[in-house]
Amino acid sequence: MSGVPVTVPSFRRAKPQSLRPRAPKQARERFRGSARSRGYTTEWDRLRDDYIRERPSCEECLRRGFLRPAVVVDHMVPIRCDPARRLDASNLDSLCDDHHNGWKRRLEQFAEQTRQVEMLPIWIKQAETRPAGFQITRTGPINADGTFR
Ligand SMILES: [Zn+2]
Repeated sequence: MSGVPVTVPSFRRAKPQSLRPRAPKQARERFRGSARSRGYTTEWDRLRDDYIRERPSCEECLRRGFLRPAVVVDHMVPIRCDPARRLDASNLDSLCDDHHNGWKRRLEQFAEQTRQVEMLPIWIKQAETRPAGFQITRTGPINADGTFR
């Protein structure tokens, strides 16, 4: 026996906040300047992507014996201090957000205040050379090569 087609009423639900369209890119860039005007080009994007693919864990966490994903590729000597090192792979360090916004910011401030900005890559990669107050005193269970202690 064939029935009468049933029509199911549909209700439109409001989109959750996350699905609502964002302000247009142009409007957002008005505040910060475009990515390109801030000195980030396709060349940088490629270098950063290659670097973080090879070193996907925060390098500072590893130096401290912990394993955590990196979210940024940091310029050890900041671009504003030495623009020539912007695309220099030996000036890069993969970092987690905490190390980028906390530890690295403090180390950078110290280096600038004491006019030792060129020491940053050495201090960062060879932790035992760091000035007092920046030395690693306690370490976690991971070795620098990723194996366990
Ligand atoms: Zn970290």
